Amino acid sequence: MKTTIIETITYPIVETFHSVQGEGAWTGVSAFFIRLGGCDVYCPWCDQKESWNAKRYPQRSLVELATEAKAANPAIVIITGGEPLMHDLNPLTRQLRKLGLRVHLETSGAHPFSGQFDWVTFSPKQYKPPHNSIYDRVSELKVVVANPKDLQWAEQQATRIPPEALKYLQPEWNTPQSQQIIYDYVLQHPEWRISLQMHKFLGVR
Ligand code: SF4
Repeated sequence: MKTTIIETITYPIVETFHSVQGEGAWTGVSAFFIRLGGCDVYCPWCDQKESWNAKRYPQRSLVELATEAKAANPAIVIITGGEPLMHDLNPLTRQLRKLGLRVHLETSGAHPFSGQFDWVTFSPKQYKPPHNSIYDRVSELKVVVANPKDLQWAEQQATRIPPEALKYLQPEWNTPQSQQIIYDYVLQHPEWRISLQMHKFLGVR
């Protein structure tokens, strides 16, 4: 049988799994996750450090990934990482959408934007500043806060996103004092909301 070009396109895959979205506006929604390998942002508190080296992971065809996502019958498909924008996401998102799936992205924005998405969660990191191509595409801004200085970073990033985009502050999981910092800040700045990592409270992925 003849192989089409699309069938030859592959991505390094850390894991795929079906769970719920634990963060931001879509918290609690049934979601199929595609976690791509590779990240050069190197956040010191990263909870996905094993994803940094893409070469550690098998290459999987986008057709196979999209078929698996469809079979899971989720409300949304979330492409995450690592930093997924290190890869050209146009072919993968095209295939997912062709199957009628709603496609979301979780990114630090550190690489040029690619792909067609129904929702873009932008989580900028100071360790590698975002590429300019992300800002117009943002549906929600989600800034991880470990210390008060991160609030300045959050405000600075918020000036560049579309006015209708939602704004979330999320406490860094291993820095308990960050919860109080965010709580106090949101009471004084009602345009911001709190995002908690619900999946961690549930003890699921
Ligand atoms: Fe980890 Fe995400 Fe930071 Fe990359 S951008 S180091 S995957 S938290």
